[in-house]
Amino acid sequence: MDMMNEMDYEDRIVSTGYTPEDSDTEKSLRPVNLGEYIGQEKAKESLKIYIEAAKQRGDVLDHVLLYGPPGLGKTTLSGIIANELGVNIRVTSGPAIEKQGDLAALLTNLNDNDVLFIDEIHRLSRQVEEILYPAMEDFALDIIIGKGPSAQSIHLPIPRFTLIGATTRAGQLTTPLRDRFGVLLKLELYTVEELAEIVRRSAGILGVPIDNEGAIEIASRSRGTPRIANRLLKRVRDFAQVKYDGKITLKTATSALNTLEIDELGLDNTDRKMLETIIHAYGGGPVGLETLAATVGEEAITIEDVYEPYLMQIGYLSRTPRGRCATRLAYEHLNIPYPLQNNSSPQLSMFDSEHEQKQSTK
Ligand code: ADP
Repeated sequence: MDMMNEMDYEDRIVSTGYTPEDSDTEKSLRPVNLGEYIGQEKAKESLKIYIEAAKQRGDVLDHVLLYGPPGLGKTTLSGIIANELGVNIRVTSGPAIEKQGDLAALLTNLNDNDVLFIDEIHRLSRQVEEILYPAMEDFALDIIIGKGPSAQSIHLPIPRFTLIGATTRAGQLTTPLRDRFGVLLKLELYTVEELAEIVRRSAGILGVPIDNEGAIEIASRSRGTPRIANRLLKRVRDFAQVKYDGKITLKTATSALNTLEIDELGLDNTDRKMLETIIHAYGGGPVGLETLAATVGEEAITIEDVYEPYLMQIGYLSRTPRGRCATRLAYEHLNIPYPLQNNSSPQLSMFDSEHEQKQSTK
């Protein structure tokens, strides 16, 4: 991501990335046990069993890979796993571990059964990754001292630990690394009801009165993402405090969010620009990802990880083998008449949707 794009993206109120604005309340809003962690029922159900089994055996939990778009609760869930296991957690990230020695130091300083959380694990360098293989598999470091014929290999045992890796897509990991995780969990975008529950919980912690409709309104505009829901809640709270009587209702939420230019589905200017480009410049699609990225001035990976998941969840964008297409719902949302005769032949579009269904059930 170049500097400009990074700034653009992080400046979005509906950015899924972590921003300084999130930091003040981040700690207090983070759930600390599985009971407080709303949604992600499938992931929670498996985790409960694995955690219980590891505890019963008095053994270390298998390595866990969490993947899904930013802001869905991967870091939060890792803290919860450590908490439920009753062990310590060390938090770091792929880009922060520069040298093999950095990782070796982290690993040797763990206690037995501790959790090591590596965010953005796909960004580890190749050399650092190689240290991780024997560490994950045999709880050991294989260090080579010296060069040439006199080089010696030292096998150094380290504490038994659980690695929790987080990444936006499992496919970004190298195969040898991915294969060493025993548990792979995909986090899904949240439903409006789940997000409303998160908003009510956070409002309770922040001491802000909120009614049901106000919570639903904030939830509907949060792009399926708890981090955005909490951020919007804080913005609406300020608005309610200054312009109204402090209580968040449908009216305060709607007027605050409209002022922030977040539409009723949480779409901002970049989303609209993307959809409008597909519609106006490419007759509704298909458009290749790279072309789309160039026309809206974003990195392809940002489009895939940040914009597309939500636009696909609400059914505005479809992914076909030949590129991205805007759907009828997108036309309607943007008040653009849907062409009766679409460019692609009926056979092709049937093939596309079939392929897509197969992909989405994976
Ligand atoms: P990620 O690591 O996937 O980017 P985080 O774990 O940092 O996301 O979550 C972002 C914020 O969203 C957290 O501060 C937390 O308060 C909130 N959050 C995430 N998941 C949940 C959840 N399931 N229930 C309640 N709050 C959540």
